[in-house]
Amino acid sequence: MKKEASTKKTEMEKLFHEFKNAWVDLSDNDRELTFKMAGEYKKFLDMGKTERECVSKIVTMAKEKGFKNIRDLITSKKPLKEGMKIYASYKDKTVALFVIGKESIEKGMNIVGSHIDSPRLDLKASPLYEDAELALLKTHYYGGIKKYQWATIPLSMHGVIVKKDGSKISIAIGEDEDDPVFVVSDILPHLGKEQAAKKMSEGFTGEQLNVIIGNIPLKDKKIKEHIKLNILNILKEKYNMEEIDFVSAEIEIVPAGKARDAGLDRSLILAYGHDDRVCAFPSLKGIFEIEHPQKMAVALFTDKEEIGSVGNTGMCSAFFDNTVAELIALEKQEYNELYLRRALAQSKVLSADVNAGFDPSFPEVFDKRNSSYIGKGIILTKFTGSRGKSGANDAHAEFVGEIKNLFTANKIVWQASELGKVDAGGGGTIAYILANKGADVIDCGIAVLNMHAPFELVSKVDLFMTYKAYKAFLQS
Ligand code: MN
Ligand code: MN
Repeated sequence: MKKEASTKKTEMEKLFHEFKNAWVDLSDNDRELTFKMAGEYKKFLDMGKTERECVSKIVTMAKEKGFKNIRDLITSKKPLKEGMKIYASYKDKTVALFVIGKESIEKGMNIVGSHIDSPRLDLKASPLYEDAELALLKTHYYGGIKKYQWATIPLSMHGVIVKKDGSKISIAIGEDEDDPVFVVSDILPHLGKEQAAKKMSEGFTGEQLNVIIGNIPLKDKKIKEHIKLNILNILKEKYNMEEIDFVSAEIEIVPAGKARDAGLDRSLILAYGHDDRVCAFPSLKGIFEIEHPQKMAVALFTDKEEIGSVGNTGMCSAFFDNTVAELIALEKQEYNELYLRRALAQSKVLSADVNAGFDPSFPEVFDKRNSSYIGKGIILTKFTGSRGKSGANDAHAEFVGEIKNLFTANKIVWQASELGKVDAGGGGTIAYILANKGADVIDCGIAVLNMHAPFELVSKVDLFMTYKAYKAFLQS
């Protein structure tokens, strides 16, 4: 007779470690919460397709949750009190939320730092032209994209226009069912032989990312470019703008349509802008639920990450330091730069950004043993960087150990990974910027498939685990 195989691990076998699928041991209650949260997240995505829209939505939600504008506190010189909730936004493109801790700010903060800008097509300064009976818009893409992916899909137009008289208007066209959409054309396969023989990176060029916006000419045949003029006429009627106003506009062309459930089991979400709103949202939800943390809890939503964290709204700017300096001045009712330096150097940071999930259709660019997987929970990435860890933040073992234990203690399913094979590429995040100021930082986010494509894919269970992880960290 055969002996029944034991399913129990022997003491020796417990030495092994295998990262688990997060769905497997999810309780019924957590399963329900996972799907509920995914619904909230999809709405957040639909309302925030640009960094400006995200800031507006985050500020609105924060106010509802009792967060006060730092400007008002500065004006009234109101001293900080433990448990107070404060927000600071800058140029409508970056925002930070704070919950004042029991300890002084100079003892350090717990910061979750995500970004709310996503790859897209931006309009050039003189975008509108007419060619071959069409009116089109010239674009300059933003962030790292595979250009061919942005052709032949419905696109929408979001942004602001500052007009001659100085007034500013916001536009969003292409999201409502009745709205028109826009499109970048691609050549048919019959005439695409030469294109198909090119390297993929050259088969579709930046100057071919032209957005079609019209075809009807004005009736006056004497006018050259009468299709373009008809579009200008529509813009005048609708927005009271003229061609010169494009120069002082920020119009972003993004994929049209709403975030959708993906998979027959509805386990996934297909949407534009998961990078990095899939980390921004759980950070936001997390800080909304924090009460009386030991250290000041911070949810930071930065801009310009996709182009190197530059500009006065990117992580390299003075915005965050200036804001913390103001908070210190409110706390102490005096200011000394040393307090700020101490605060930054004693802070702990989760650099909340997405990672490349292992793609079974492209296994050759991954190290299977050191990749993140869709559905295996939040990812700890000790180092990113490329070709010899170049540019990596490389979190210290001590800090990795601390975070690892925090997650395990809070029953958070997590996994560890790099981004791709050793010499395959790697990527950068905001991690190194806060590390430069002395903070302990680790990259910690969600696995994405199709990263930087018009529609990216994530797992709902990873979103849920990330929310639990960020909340536990902010509260610690
Ligand atoms: Mn990112
Ligand atoms: Mn990115």
